[in-house]
Amino acid sequence: MRPDLLNPLFAGVDGLDGVGPKVAKPLERLGLARVRDLAYHLPDRFVNRRAVASLDEASVGEQIVVALTPLDYRQAPGRGPFRVNAVDGAGNVCALTYFGKASYSAKKLLPLGERRWVAGRLDQYGQSLQMVHPDHVSEGSDQALGSLCEAVYPLSEGLTQGKVAGLVAQALAALPELPEWIEPGLAQRMGWPGWREALREAHRGEHGPARDRLAYDELLANSLALMLVRAAGRARSGTPLAGDGHLRARLSLPFAMTGAQRRAIAEIEGDVAQGAPMLRLLQGDVGSGKTVVALNAMLIAVEAGAQAALLAPTEILARQHFETLSRMLAGTGVEIALLTGRDKGRSRESILMGLVDGSIPIVVGTHAIFQDAVQYRNLALVVIDEQHRFGVGQRLALTQKGRRTPHCLAMTATPIPRTLTLAQYGEMDVSKLDEMPPGRQAIDTRVVAVERMDDVIGALGRHIGAGGQAYWVCPMVRESEADDLAAAEARYEELKARFGDSVVLVHGQLRPEAKDAAMERFARGEAALLVATTVIEVGVDVPNATLMVIEQAERFGLAQLHQLRGRVGRGSEKSVCLLLRGNALSQVGRERLALMRETQDGFRLAEEDLRLRGGGELLGTRQSGDTPFRVATLEQISKLLPVAHDDARLLIERDGGLTGERGEAARILLYLFERDWGVLLLRGG
Ligand code: ADP
Ligand code: MG
Repeated sequence: MRPDLLNPLFAGVDGLDGVGPKVAKPLERLGLARVRDLAYHLPDRFVNRRAVASLDEASVGEQIVVALTPLDYRQAPGRGPFRVNAVDGAGNVCALTYFGKASYSAKKLLPLGERRWVAGRLDQYGQSLQMVHPDHVSEGSDQALGSLCEAVYPLSEGLTQGKVAGLVAQALAALPELPEWIEPGLAQRMGWPGWREALREAHRGEHGPARDRLAYDELLANSLALMLVRAAGRARSGTPLAGDGHLRARLSLPFAMTGAQRRAIAEIEGDVAQGAPMLRLLQGDVGSGKTVVALNAMLIAVEAGAQAALLAPTEILARQHFETLSRMLAGTGVEIALLTGRDKGRSRESILMGLVDGSIPIVVGTHAIFQDAVQYRNLALVVIDEQHRFGVGQRLALTQKGRRTPHCLAMTATPIPRTLTLAQYGEMDVSKLDEMPPGRQAIDTRVVAVERMDDVIGALGRHIGAGGQAYWVCPMVRESEADDLAAAEARYEELKARFGDSVVLVHGQLRPEAKDAAMERFARGEAALLVATTVIEVGVDVPNATLMVIEQAERFGLAQLHQLRGRVGRGSEKSVCLLLRGNALSQVGRERLALMRETQDGFRLAEEDLRLRGGGELLGTRQSGDTPFRVATLEQISKLLPVAHDDARLLIERDGGLTGERGEAARILLYLFERDWGVLLLRGG
């Protein structure tokens, strides 16, 4: 149970002042459901303003706070802007300019002849000075001067900076005092503040040590949890599996295994023969052939008279795995079932029966396969097709609750750098598929300026006209970004107007049924063009789709582009990937796209991605997608993860049950970062 101490942090945001349904919705889209989430909703950056006595002291382009007195109003004709001409103490005139709806409230905000404090960016307009949509206008100086260093938060539609700042302030005021889990010597060496102070500082300004400390907390929690999973696995016994090969011999595969695949299978076979449960990561780039390795592993279990389960991250993938595996198993007589959250009624009942009595030896599904209602006669191997992203530890924890621990094989398609492997998977044994199946053609990757959109659409038309299929990918940084969604929908409409009903659209906000239906039409070849946001990253295998267009390619991470590109080049036909780039391309952006053209080696791209992003902007880029972390940036991960890892090991080894004073504090940390599945194992173990 979560310690009571943390209750105020895990209270819902709806208990805060000013949170009604209208605000709760956009907060939810940002993943802000509880007070804790708000406290950790760290600013993207800060606006630093300077208070000036007169405009003479300020330069154009500068963020300032200044006292101004409105002289007159000017409404430009038509839909032109509304201007308030205002004067400072020294007689300099500056126009405060408002467009659209904002101009309605300008008169009330800036009454003629009354002095107001104005915060905003000073610009030049022709010969005169102006401020467009000042950020703040207030009667007293307090509010204005309080905004000298102002946080800029990630927003979603329906929220304003002021609203979020107000809610964050409430969350920060509610922070309890927590015991220190960081080793005192380390905190001192690094100059890190305590937890509560660190959170408050991180919202107040660019405090490197505070941000680092918060990142470290997250990394430590993750390392601890992963190590607890590892330790719990070691302490339990698994089922030694000795397969005699009779089922594997009956598999009819249309290809010969690569050396890497054979090595991986041999390593797995060696592991599962042991009494201790296997904990192995199968790391292989997109298309390297992980599925057949997983199948062999599962057949070893079945040959030994046990059951195996394959856990997929999404419905679509579960379905796809089921179909692929069913085909491969056709000649073996081995039964396989599909179980997802959507299966109900009779068929579900009969699958559950088959799992209990053991007549179904292999099941494929989503997390539904680990619900309490699902019982196995003899589950001895779990394969987790992680693809990428969160949660392998949590899923492992799920499998480790029984008396006998199943062997576990986690598969990842994300060629992540070594530091991140450690972060995401802890100390698992690793098998690498570092050899591609033969006969793969390089994907012809080209960077194309967005001005050539017409040419691109023309080429797309010829491709489809000749019976080909294609992907069109639109960027969507956060699933909540309304603009991105609108842009994707607009593109879809445009392409549909051009190519008719054979165009389908898939994005993250569609209902799962609608998403599946569109994907299936595309997979069956009924649709020629799939317009999608990045949801296809972990998606379909359609060998006939040999053209991919990625819009605003500079907005994607390299690893992500690589994953996307891996959707083409799966058949024998030559594939093409067109990276459309905008005009305002930074140096780093240019380098990244050039790399995509140059190499198809996922591991190299991942390392370069880390290097190129490492030296990024001051606060770094938080990556919600690529790592299991919400606070730590890639840069902080490289810098602090090894420290956190060593510290976690010491803590667990010295104090096996996390019982001492620091151990108790560390438990609180695990709950704080919702790695409490680690704690559960502790108690059970
Ligand atoms: P991933 O590692 O991305 O999961 P898959 O297992 O889906 O890759 O395999 C990608 C494609 O390569 C599949 O069509 C599969 O049948 C094929 N494949 C796998 N192994 C080999 C091999 N040794 N030789 C040729 N083709 C292979
Ligand atoms: Mg796969």
